[in-house]
This record gives sequence, structure tokens and C-alpha cells, in this order.
Amino acid sequence: MIINGKEIASKIEKDLSQKAVDFERKYGKKVSLHTILVGNDEASRIYANSKIKKLKSLGMDGYIHNLPENSNESDVIDLLNKLSKDESVHGVMVEMPLPKHLDKTKILLNIDPEKDADGQNPLNLGLLMLGNEDHVPSTPKAVIRILEEIKVDLKGKKVCIINRTPVVGKPLAMLFLNRDATVKICHSRTQNIEKETKDSDIIVVAVGKPYFLKENMVSENSIVIDVGINSVDNKIVGDADFDSLKERVAMITPVPGGVGSVTTVLIIEQALKNAQRIMEKKFM
Ligand code: NAP
Repeated sequence: MIINGKEIASKIEKDLSQKAVDFERKYGKKVSLHTILVGNDEASRIYANSKIKKLKSLGMDGYIHNLPENSNESDVIDLLNKLSKDESVHGVMVEMPLPKHLDKTKILLNIDPEKDADGQNPLNLGLLMLGNEDHVPSTPKAVIRILEEIKVDLKGKKVCIINRTPVVGKPLAMLFLNRDATVKICHSRTQNIEKETKDSDIIVVAVGKPYFLKENMVSENSIVIDVGINSVDNKIVGDADFDSLKERVAMITPVPGGVGSVTTVLIIEQALKNAQRIMEKKFM
């Protein structure tokens, strides 16, 4: 079975556009998501613009704050503080990558934890460690959402995640643990990785290497979730060797049309949840 991320995303979008109408009717204002873009990274700019387009199509407001490449930390933090105080702002995120001279952690710590739209504030990552899933990074959240939408029962499942970053692998491990799965995290120093993947029910691959996950690493019962986004000969491909795996595993997500399709709508969903919580004053 090929898992259709686009179908899952459009189902979520339908629900979001109805909730956006309800929100505006109830509070007389639109949900708004603000993205900070520092510098001239072309891919980030395209991504940020597509998010704004999607927000507008769902009846919400989206803004990009483009700061110059040579901005310093206090320029970014001043803007974040301004957005924290602004009552019309419900969602805030900082587009990655930031220019190298900026301290990422210092900046992310200044995102208002309640307005955090992509679970970027390290405080929210800490809360996730404690089992609180109010503000979770969108990519791991998309992996779980896809599995839940296709009704995979995660309880007791053996999961292998190939990625140990704070944006993907580590929060995803927490989300699986919270659902009673047994989790293994692999990385570039893991020995005999094919043994680890083959022995798992669910394999999440996010290494950033095209066609990394091959036939010898899966079994016929594997569920493969491919997070990778790579450009090969001007085509977008994942980290799994999709063409050779699709007939050999139980389920697999395609790239494009898999995890990436769901990620953006979950950032928008988070902005909407933040807006509802802010208006209802439901803080921790
Ligand atoms: P990253 O920071 O480079 O991390 C890659 C991870 O893969 C690291 O943990 C690394 O291990 C591990 N790895 C690298 N080579 C390996 C190997 N040969 N064997 C086993 N593990 C290996 O990349 P990232 O930012 O997390 O992104 C990973 C991929 O996901 C990229 O293709 C990216 O474009 C994609 N992505 C997609 C989304 C989405 O929404 N769909 C979002 C974010 C990222 P070490 O820790 O040992 O280096």
C-alpha cells in the first residue's frame, strides 16, 4: 500500500478551513501566523511563501518578516519580542537554516512558547520529554499523524528511526514512546543498521541521502515512512528506494506526496490551536 499524504493533508485542510471560519465568527479576527526569514536562502523563501499562500486559501492570515543576512541576534530577538506582545499574532516560527553567525538556541528560546507554531522553542521540546504534546515540531508530528490516519496501532510496535536530530529523530522518539511503541534511534555511527531496520515494524528514514533505505533493510511487513527530501537530476526523491521497495513492504510513503505534504498543514493547525488557546486563556 502506498500511503497518500496529499489525501491526508487535504482532509486536515478541510477541517482547518471550517475551524478558521468559526474562529473569525466567534472572535472577529483571523488566525495569524508570522514567519521570520533571516537572509537569502532561496529554498526557505519559497517554502515560507507557499505557507502564506496555503494560510490564505484556508481563510487565515500569514506574514513573512524578512530580515537581512547580516542581522544580529538582538535584531531577531527584538522582532520575536514584538510578536510576543502583539495580541493579533497567534503563531510564530523562524525559518531554518539561520545564517551561521547567529546562535540558533538563543533565538529559538525567544519564541513565545504559547505562540510557537513549529515546536521550535527548546522549552516546548523539554515539555515533550515530560509527555506534554501541546507544541511539537511539525515533521515528527506529521509522521505520527499519518500513521494514526491510516489506523496503525502503535502500541507495542517496534520502531526504528534513522535520525537523531532535535528537529526530527529525538522528538519523534518521544511521540512514539508516548504511544507505547518500543523505539530504537539509529545514526551515522550505528553498526549493522540493516539488522536494526529489518527487525522493526515501522522504519522512519530521515538521513538526507537519496535511496538510502534499500531492499536488504526491510521485510515484507515493514511500514516505511520516508521523511527525506532530496533533489536528484532536478527531481525530488526521498531517502527510501521507493521503486524497489513499494512492492516489497507492507506500506510506504512516497516523496513527494508523503510526509512533506502533511508537515505544512500541521504548522497551520498549530497556529489555529494557539489562537484558540490564547483567546480562551488556556495557558499552562
Ligand atoms: P541532518 O541534520 O543532516 O540529519 C541526518 C541524520 O541522519 C543524522 O542523525 C545523521 O546521523 C543520520 N545519518 C546520516 N548519514 C547516515 C548514515 N549513513 N547512516 C545512518 N544514519 C545517517 O538532516 P535533517 O535536517 O534531520 O533532515 C534529514 C532529511 O529529512 C533531509 O532529506 C531533509 O530534507 C528531510 N526533512 C524533511 C522534512 C519534511 O517535512 N518532510 C523536514 C525536515 C527534514 P549523525 O547524527 O550521526 O550525523
